[in-house]
Amino acid sequence: MLCDDVKRVVYFFLDGSLSEQKAHDLTVHLDRCPDCGARTTIHRRLRNFYVHRFRADSAPTHLKIRLTRSIRAIQTDL
Ligand SMILES: [Zn+2]
Repeated sequence: MLCDDVKRVVYFFLDGSLSEQKAHDLTVHLDRCPDCGARTTIHRRLRNFYVHRFRADSAPTHLKIRLTRSIRAIQTDL
């Protein structure tokens, strides 16, 4: 796997949706390529931040209800 390949599939790798063989190839590349290793670490941290920060269940119930009502009100006005 080359650096360009890593850039193309890194998000699939972090999602766990890459095939076992490609994930293995990518891991081998990351062990040997400091640039891709560093870049992947940054992508992983960003992804973890977003996944944690914007989880579907992270909003309190009262906020979800308020937002749903606001969205429905806007849709009704359109
Ligand atoms: Zn690389």
